[in-house]
Parts: sequence; structure tokens; C-alpha cells
Amino acid sequence: MLRVGLTGGIGAGKSTVSRLLTGLGAVLVDADVLAREVVAPGTPGLAAVVAEFGSGVLAADGALDRPALGRVVFADPRRRAALNAIVHPLVAARRRELRAAAAEDAVVVEDVPLLVETGAAPGYPLVVVVDADAAERERRLVAERGMDPADARARIAAQAGDGERRAAADVLLPNPRREPGRPDPLPALVERLWRERLLPFEAGLRAGRPGPVPDGEPTAADARRVLARLEAAAGRARLEQAASWPLRARVPAEGGLASVGYVGAGPGRFASADPGCAVVVDVEGEVAGAARVGGRA
Ligand code: ADP
Repeated sequence: MLRVGLTGGIGAGKSTVSRLLTGLGAVLVDADVLAREVVAPGTPGLAAVVAEFGSGVLAADGALDRPALGRVVFADPRRRAALNAIVHPLVAARRRELRAAAAEDAVVVEDVPLLVETGAAPGYPLVVVVDADAAERERRLVAERGMDPADARARIAAQAGDGERRAAADVLLPNPRREPGRPDPLPALVERLWRERLLPFEAGLRAGRPGPVPDGEPTAADARRVLARLEAAAGRARLEQAASWPLRARVPAEGGLASVGYVGAGPGRFASADPGCAVVVDVEGEVAGAARVGGRA
């Protein structure tokens, strides 16, 4: 099973990409759907929201009045944080349940609008970012979703900037404005991502097989993402070599390396199963000994 974090600014095209991936066989876990579920009428989540924000955020039928709540939280970052503190842990718990229920060979795509903002990106083996610039996203929200322009701008401003999101991307899927009369390039891009990266990554994880060494050279951004992921999994990590593939790193303990896309590669050694990002990680202590023995032989 491979978990993929899918994100993008509001209006970038996450739902569009989710649909394409689902069509190819991915299992979709949609954070927006989960966020609704956990505050549905009769849930402890809804009770907590009412306790925090008052009954003014309830509609006449007792369900959450989302536009009313939205007006409160998008106008004030502190109120937004209070809402997130209620909803995020409930969503995370539900997500763990769905993950546990997925098939052994599933590619589970988690559509998470605030993946970067919440600092959760390094916890995923792979992060895919759907990318469209803020002006185009605003246009889509207004023209295609009927949102008020000021509201659209406020929502865009409440999220991470494009640069920050791009920096978190293992895969960047550009989704600029479709040109009338021209074929939409997005389906082919997504199909290629599925075939060349997601399927082999998943198969490698399941088989305990490290990914191949990719062509070209790693960038500084590749190295930063690898380090962040290893730190998320193992607490601490040190990059020893980042000028060519495979990157080499050292961690104090195995930690949760398996949960971020690593497989065993010999005593005290792990390697990424990602076919787009080769990394070899030695676990301190265990591996220091193994490496010395190897070095003297
Ligand atoms: P998100 O889930 O990231 O908020 P959506 O996939 O819902 O974004 O897309 C936002 C809106 O923009 C939708 O109405 C969608 O049909 C439209 N859209 C998506 N991609 C494009 C594109 N390349 N050009 C024009 N409109 C697009």
C-alpha cells in the first residue's frame, strides 16, 4: 500500500486530479468529505464546534451552517485555529481508520487541502501538488464556483503561498487554464504519474524492493524534502551525500521509515522505494559497525 498526499491551493484542480486518479484505480480519501463527516448532525465533533462558536453556527435544521462558520473563521486566524483544533484530530483519526481498511496493494490518495499549512507533508511517502497560480485560481472560484471575488481572495490568502507549496512537492502537476479548442494535457500527465511513479512505488514497497536510481541529478529541493521526511519518520536525520543519486543519509533509529516509503536494504540499512527519488539510509550504531566491517574486508 502506498499513501500519496495530494494538495494544491483552493481552485488549483485537486478534485479534478482526484477524479482522474480514482479512474485509474486509486483509493481516494478526501479530507473535505471527512471534515464534513466529523461534524455531521449528532456527532461529538458538531457538539464541540457549537460549544466553541455558539449556536449561531447552526442552521435551522440543526446541521452546521458552513457559510456562517466560514465567515467567522476566514476573518480571524485565531478562530480558524480554534476550529482546526477541533476538526483536524477527528479527521486524522477517521483517516487512519480508512487507511487500515484499504487493500494491501492499494494506492491511497489523500486529498488534503492544507497538507503544507499543517506541516503534514513530510509524513507522506509522496506529495503531489496540483499547481495553478493564484490569479487563475481566483478566476475559477468566481467564474466556475460562483464565489464572491472578495471571499475567493480571502480564502486564497488564508492558505500557503504557491512557492511554499511547490517546495513541498515531490511531483508538481501544472494545471494552468485550459485553452478552448486545445486538448487538456492533465489526463495524460496524471496517467503517466500513475504508471511511472505511483504503481512502481507501491509495488516496490510491497515487495521490499528499493527504487531504481533515477536519471539526472538531485536538486537542493529534493535534498530538503528527503531530509524533512527522514526527520518526520526518525526524529533526527543527517544528509551525508546529496550531489548525486542515491542520496545518502543517516538516522539515529529506524523509527517510522516504512511509513514514509522506505524498505529494508541490508543490516541497518534502508532505501527508498520511490522510483523518482533514490535514497540510502543507514541507521546509526547498527550500520556504523556493518560499514566498518565492510570497509576493512
Ligand atoms: P480544487 O479541488 O483544487 O479546489 P477543482 O478541481 O474543484 O479544484 O477545480 C476548481 C474549478 O476549476 C472547477 O470548477 C474545475 O472544473 C475548474 N478547473 C480545473 N482545472 C481547470 C483548468 N485547467 N482550466 C480551467 N478550469 C479548471
